[in-house]
Amino acid sequence: MTIQSGVAGLNEEQQDIICWFDGVAESAASAQTETLRRIIEMNHGTEYLSKWLGSDTEIQQAEGEELERLYTRRVPLANHADLEPYIQRIADGDDSPLLTQEPITTLSLSSGTTDGRPKYVPFTRYSSQSTLQIFKLAAAHRSRVFPLRAGGRILELIYSSKQFKTKGGVTAGTATTHYYASEEFRAKQKCTESFACSPLEVILEGDYKQSTYCHLLLGLYFCDQVDFVTSTFAYSMVHVFTAFEGLWEEICHDIRHGSLSNSRVTSPRIRRAVLEHLSPNPSLALKIESKCRELQGLDWCCTIPELWPNAKYIYSIMTGSMQPYLKKLRHYAGELPLVCADYGSTESWIGVNLDPYAPPQSVTFTVIPTLAYFEFIPLVNSQHKRPTDDVIDLDYQEGEPLPLSQVKLGQQYELVLTTYTGLYRYRLGDVVEVASFYKGAPQLTFVCRRKLILTINIDKNTEKDLQLAVERSSQLLAQCQAELVDFTSHADTSKHPGHYVIYWEIKAKDGDEIRDRVLQECCREMDASFADYGYVVSRRTHSIGPLELRLVKDGTFGNILEHYISNGATMSQFKTPRCTNNPVLLRILDHNTVKHFWSTAYG
Ligand code: AMP
Repeated sequence: MTIQSGVAGLNEEQQDIICWFDGVAESAASAQTETLRRIIEMNHGTEYLSKWLGSDTEIQQAEGEELERLYTRRVPLANHADLEPYIQRIADGDDSPLLTQEPITTLSLSSGTTDGRPKYVPFTRYSSQSTLQIFKLAAAHRSRVFPLRAGGRILELIYSSKQFKTKGGVTAGTATTHYYASEEFRAKQKCTESFACSPLEVILEGDYKQSTYCHLLLGLYFCDQVDFVTSTFAYSMVHVFTAFEGLWEEICHDIRHGSLSNSRVTSPRIRRAVLEHLSPNPSLALKIESKCRELQGLDWCCTIPELWPNAKYIYSIMTGSMQPYLKKLRHYAGELPLVCADYGSTESWIGVNLDPYAPPQSVTFTVIPTLAYFEFIPLVNSQHKRPTDDVIDLDYQEGEPLPLSQVKLGQQYELVLTTYTGLYRYRLGDVVEVASFYKGAPQLTFVCRRKLILTINIDKNTEKDLQLAVERSSQLLAQCQAELVDFTSHADTSKHPGHYVIYWEIKAKDGDEIRDRVLQECCREMDASFADYGYVVSRRTHSIGPLELRLVKDGTFGNILEHYISNGATMSQFKTPRCTNNPVLLRILDHNTVKHFWSTAYG
């Protein structure tokens, strides 16, 4: 790992946070015990903990490993479903100490696009504070490599969803929405010495189309000052620059006249806030217009460095389910470094990227041992072992959960969290691998969501297996100058034998005939690329039918995004569901299907 030695060029606060983290990483094991001790001390006597720990004080007096042993022996591993009754009571207005001693007044809606159903998770002041802490730490490490200019700006493509009240009067919304509304978010701009191009009103309004227009308009208005371009997940960044291809003329008109399109931006609050920053700038408008004309002829390749000439890097979550968008992001980014953002979830932050140079394929996230108490369930992936008739559950064999101090290099684990916000031994459902250590702290690569997504009988395929099959087969699209825009899947068991249905939206130039021939080939290749033994055997024996590729109309995945946003999701945290049984989504997909292709692999 390449971390520059010395902390020259950093301000005092940045140097302090780097030193602080080096200290806790050095003593990661004891930092973990201390974190667990503090969580138990703060929340001892809550209804949930009392259920498992009783009223005895033994655990409060225990120290070090003994404390960890007692805690993990008495408190069981939990899924979201185990905590749901408690969280529901909180949402319904029960303010007794259920999960935490301090009343929970805010609930986060995790994006839910990973398993199709939004879930409530407690959000407390600690959630915003830990977000600020990891952002500061990551920003300090980035500044070592890419120093920022004093007074520079960030083109920050971020969004809130609407906050609402539950039946019991608790504020609910996505975690990013709560964070952007918090004091900590305001403090971040100051202590990282970078200011967003857009005022807060643009971020908080909760209408992603209006926000996107203003982000781009102000981003271009301040283009020479922009030091880097960022979004939470890469998906939204690609979405914004694709939208830009159709918005640039109106944006240039607004820059020229110091105006704001009435049809694009209707919110009076946003209009007021944005217009305050703008005054007519015809020469800038002319410059941007002529660049855009050139870029249009180049299919918008290198848009970001061409329009933001002082941007030093792109910063976003680019790993896991964001990998399929990397190619398009690279297209817009040209040679600019792609710096991977940190690893976290609505439930808790987990690890920080200490190496801004690390490419998305090999980036690791160093666990911050003070954020939560982490446990690691060892997983042996037995997907490719030969199945016996009576063994159906082929995916992973689990070992006993281990504390952070006992994880092994090269081993895969499912993460378990105990947080300050009232989650106890909570299975996050993510699979990670220990790739290295930074002092005493493990450095994790994100492997995939644990949940199997495609299964019909003995076959088991994860999000990652699907991603690999799609990646491999979609390379053939280059033959007809087409590119994959987005994809999802469905295990169709409505008829016998069941089969996999994969939906693709593509951007194509060539005539139908060539494109269809190539898509037919993609379909065959995709079927053949699922290497899971159960799938291969089932395909050979025809107990799973040929894979079906369904081509959907342009804009279909945009309709899916709209569907989620109208149900409370936010653009900032949106992840296209990679497999769906959701009838509304299937209706959108099937209604927009224009062609079907059936695999000829396996005869
Ligand atoms: P959410 O429920 O919307 O908060 O999404 C959290 C999930 O997003 C995590 O559990 C991971 O599966 C995924 N995720 C978050 N950060 C990363 C990252 N840096 N790399 C890969 N996946 C991530």
